[in-house]
Amino acid sequence: MNLILVRRNEITYSSSAKSQARVLLSDRRADHIRQVHQPSLGDALKLGVISGEIFNAQVVGISEQGVALEWDSALGVPPPEALPVVLVLALPRPKMLRRILQSAASMGVKEIWLIHSYRVDKSYWSSPLLDYEALMMQLQLGLEQSGDTIMPTLHLRKRFKPFVEDELPALVAGRKAWVAHPYDAEKAPMPSDQPSLVAVGPEGGFITYEVSKLMDAGLNPLSLGQRILRVETAIPVVLTRLFP
Ligand code: SAH
Repeated sequence: MNLILVRRNEITYSSSAKSQARVLLSDRRADHIRQVHQPSLGDALKLGVISGEIFNAQVVGISEQGVALEWDSALGVPPPEALPVVLVLALPRPKMLRRILQSAASMGVKEIWLIHSYRVDKSYWSSPLLDYEALMMQLQLGLEQSGDTIMPTLHLRKRFKPFVEDELPALVAGRKAWVAHPYDAEKAPMPSDQPSLVAVGPEGGFITYEVSKLMDAGLNPLSLGQRILRVETAIPVVLTRLFP
């Protein structure tokens, strides 16, 4: 946790010095601060307000009840820039999904669509790990890791065809759009900072029908080279190729 993330409704403001903000943490964040940061009173920690700025907060209390932090809310800096990319991802195995969401969030992805695909096991959709709150927690862990405050949006689509036919074309509009596919594909495109969309297949890959439907929606196949990468590797590789 390189950044302590707090919600606006957890913050209280000093009645004498209006910009003096304070939070008392007593959950996993407090445990983390006590066990990992092990600060002394007066030490500084990085604190981010979800959807807001990043501050240098001072540890003003450490006790069994929790950890109290204070900062000057006039001295914030903005979070790091987001990647201008929409990630469309065939639903990975739930255990992998957690790590994949964390790492995508930590790389600055702000819009993720999890979709069904032929080679996605239908049972994945009913996993308790797919609980929306649990998924948002993984995204938050990614932000805490990378020092960002802007939560990605997450969309789940249990049917491939209606998504690709009815929703995908609008997402593609105004973007460079790619489907990562090891076969019959152009080599990875030249890097750019243009708004982009990239689709990554499931462990078993997209089937030919799906690749052609994705191409009908305006996606171009792209190859990351001869080696077939696991999904959790393919995502960071494609993102760094597109946005070095
Ligand atoms: N077993 C599948 C590979 C799936 S790899 C097959 O042989 O088709 C999982 C996903 O990662 C793929 O659907 C693709 O989106 C991406 N990927 C992995 N390696 C890639 C590569 N070399 N080029 C482009 N995409 C790749």
